[in-house]
Amino acid sequence: MASIFGHALTAVTIGSGFSKKIKDKKFWFLGILCAIIPDADVIGFQFHIPYESFWGHRGFSHSILFAVFLGILVTALFYSKSFFSKKGLLFMAFFTLCTVSHALLDGLTNGGLGVALFSPFDNTRYFLPWRPIQVSPIGASRFFSHWGLKVIYSELYYIGIPALLYIVFVFFVKRFTKHKHKAERK
Ligand SMILES: [Zn+2]
Repeated sequence: MASIFGHALTAVTIGSGFSKKIKDKKFWFLGILCAIIPDADVIGFQFHIPYESFWGHRGFSHSILFAVFLGILVTALFYSKSFFSKKGLLFMAFFTLCTVSHALLDGLTNGGLGVALFSPFDNTRYFLPWRPIQVSPIGASRFFSHWGLKVIYSELYYIGIPALLYIVFVFFVKRFTKHKHKAERK
């Protein structure tokens, strides 16, 4: 895993690109939750599920298919009224992207096994070709250590800076298109 903070920040970054009209507290909360939830699979370690198995850490819960399912499920549960509308599609896209972002970030980390991105069709564990992010320890106690500090530094650098750039970029694009609409209406 990247750390919870890295995953949450990624969800916020993705959300920044979405329309203001659909963003309420629930939107942010659920988005962050989707970006973190794949790591609920660490519970498997308690039940002696091997890391490399289908249900193991970074297994099926880190796949694209799981992300699509979760995106649909969260929208159906929390935005049922908008489910069959354009808004509903936006919600599904957002929650799916947040969930997929988790696996992609994990794929950028320098430790553990890769992510089963194409599970259940292909259970190979993949990493991205470039793995600059310091892998985060499993469990909070180990996070508050030298290792945790290293994680925070590497995430500030490799997640924080791109996230900030993206948010600023979106801000200016939105402003520009707003002005353009206003000018067109005049
Ligand atoms: Zn993970």
